Amino acid sequence: MKKIRTVTGDVPVERMGVTLTHEHLLYTYPGGEYDHLSSYVLDEAVDKISSELKAGMDEYGYGTIVDMTPAEVGRNPELMKRVAESTGANIIAVSGFFPERMGIPYWFRRQTVEELTEFYYRDLMEGMVFSGTRTGIKAGAIKIATGQESVHPTPSPIGPNGRRIHLYEDRLIRAAARAQRKTRCCINTHTDPMDYSVTNPGLEQLEILEEEGADLSKVIIGHAFVQPRGVEQIEAILQRGATVQVDHIGIPWRFDGEEGLDESMAHLMQVLADKGYMDQMVITYDRWFFNPRGPSTEENPQLLNEAVGLGYIFDEFAPRLRRKGFTDADVHKMMVDNPKRLLSMDSL
Ligand SMILES: [Zn+2]
Repeated sequence: MKKIRTVTGDVPVERMGVTLTHEHLLYTYPGGEYDHLSSYVLDEAVDKISSELKAGMDEYGYGTIVDMTPAEVGRNPELMKRVAESTGANIIAVSGFFPERMGIPYWFRRQTVEELTEFYYRDLMEGMVFSGTRTGIKAGAIKIATGQESVHPTPSPIGPNGRRIHLYEDRLIRAAARAQRKTRCCINTHTDPMDYSVTNPGLEQLEILEEEGADLSKVIIGHAFVQPRGVEQIEAILQRGATVQVDHIGIPWRFDGEEGLDESMAHLMQVLADKGYMDQMVITYDRWFFNPRGPSTEENPQLLNEAVGLGYIFDEFAPRLRRKGFTDADVHKMMVDNPKRLLSMDSL
């Protein structure tokens, strides 16, 4: 029986329910863990996150959340575990880091591909380390990330390997592929939407993963619909066997085109579904439940991710998909069946 690895233990895929493949229970930026401005009381954070998540589970049937928070962006295994225990949700933590221009602490920049492979492997098999302490709480997937959003120059310049992927990112991607070969876990990625204007960052990631022998049928390329030059870029990713993630649904700051991001993504989805790629799409928000820095303001719209409610996909986006010919079974496939196949850790 196929299983996923959650922060509270291994769970048969039959118990996954509606799955969000890229969310954040708690989100800061590297360094936030030292700052008074983004400090928090664990009990209060657990309560706030749990009450919103539980309401979403009761009303919309969510069963599984992949918490894509990288290690240096406030990832807190204990918080995830307590939220899972208090809500009954399956929460999958990830091993991995932010893009190089914003993250990857110096400690890890000094490590070899072999050492980084071991890091991922131990996160998955022994449990994650938090502030130097072994938690015994295991990750259930690997995150890789490239690009440099909000860091100039944007889009990303060409890196030392001829790709717009930088030295340490390249190493971490190779290590992710090697750890995936041992664990047969899912790899979920962050691509910078801006980079689609100068290259196909999803394809660049897949090339490196493939060089190291990864199973691309267990790879999800994130943010692929936010700002592609055209449907061809997404299709090129799909042709390699990877899955593309429809995300930033309902989140306004990414896209200011005529029709809005939701409509442009729904249109791309329709074109891809017509071409037969329904098995290779997943749907999620990329919102966070709690940002210890405090609520967002209109002056800081990049922090508006949490303003989107957990019902938006079902109340607003699914009707839009239905108008384009998608059925409820199609939505079920993208939010239940496809995540089952992708997130099962096939060594379990
Ligand atoms: Zn994210």
